[in-house]
Order: sequence, then C-alpha cells, then structure tokens
Amino acid sequence: MLFLKISLSLPSLHLMSLESTIKALIRDVPDFPKPGIVFKDITPILENQETCNRIVEGLMNGLQMKPDAIVGIESRGFLFGFLLANKLNIPFVLIRKAGKLPYKTIQCEYALEYGTAVVEMHEDSLKKGWNVLVHDDLLATGGTAEAAARLIQAQGANVSGFCFIVELEFLNGKQKLIKHSNNITCLAQY
Ligand code: AMP
Repeated sequence: MLFLKISLSLPSLHLMSLESTIKALIRDVPDFPKPGIVFKDITPILENQETCNRIVEGLMNGLQMKPDAIVGIESRGFLFGFLLANKLNIPFVLIRKAGKLPYKTIQCEYALEYGTAVVEMHEDSLKKGWNVLVHDDLLATGGTAEAAARLIQAQGANVSGFCFIVELEFLNGKQKLIKHSNNITCLAQY
C-alpha cells in the first residue's frame, strides 16, 4: 500500500507547476516555534532532487541580470543560495545571527514583532560596486531580508534583487524590500 502511494505521488510532481510542487512538498507545522505561527517546513523539498533542480532553475529565471555575488541568510537561505551561486559561478556570502561568524564583521540591527535581532556579515566579503542578490527560503515581514540589504549597502555594494522559495503575501514583506530593488522573485505564494 505504501509502495503504491509513493509510486503514484512522486512521478506526478514533475507534471505539476513549480509552485504546486513546492506547495505539495512543504509541510505546515502549526504552533512552531511558538503558538500562532504556522511554520513552513521546506525539509521535504530537500529529499526530492528533481524539485531542488527546478527551484534553482526557477530562481535563476527570475534574475534580471547576473549578480556578482549572492548573500544567503542563516540558515535555510544557505541551502539554495549556495546551489544558485555555484550554478552561476559567483561567490556565496553568509549572513548569520550575531556571534556566529569567526572573522571581523559588520552588523545590522532590525525590528522583530517583539524586540530586535542582529545579523552580521564578514567585513571583507563584498567589493564596492558589486551587484548582489539576497536569498532566503521564505519572505515573511521582510525585516531580515531588508537587514541583509543594509549590510550589502554598508559595504558599498548594490542590491540587484531578492529571491525566495516562499512568500507569505499577507505579511506584505515586499513593501520593505521594493525600495532596495524591485527585482523580487518568490516561487510559491501563500
Ligand atoms: P521576516 O524577517 O519576517 O521576513 O522572516 C523571515 C525569516 O524568518 C526567514 O529566515 C524565514 O526562514 C523565517 N520565517 C518566518 N516566518 C516563517 C514561517 N512561517 N515558516 C518558516 N520560516 C519562517
């Protein structure tokens, strides 16, 4: 019975649109990490190589220009951000929560629903004038991606765009990002 279920569901994924495939694989986890949040768990996507390849293609298709580098936001932004940077043959740069990067960093503090958070980037990771793409798995309020944009600009580089696998459209995150770049790609919207 289990075999039948797998053999019927997996081949049909590639016949679906990329957005439908992503939505079919994402697992909603209610009340994680706190009550009231429905966490969009992308880990089942990582178990499906064909979908991973389609996601990289989809993110690439959204680019208006080839960037000079991609910054990926901790931690799920590292997964597809690194694949995409490798495919484009450009550097990949990590943005992490405060205190995790070993070398000298620049920081950006941004507002959360309650309180603030700080993200960091190595101070020598981008060159002045570079066009840099920001990637994360999911766009919610846009605060984290906007902090990434500020770190890019603080190094004298330009934000060439943003790309995400998932957008929670009802949180209007794009409004925060549009002033940095209007090239915003989201492969699946809720
Ligand atoms: P925000 O700064 O509000 O746009 O939040 C985006 C960051 O929080 C991303 O790194 C996401 O991975 C994570 N995040 C926020 N909300 C969710 C959610 N409902 N499910 C999964 N990840 C989320």
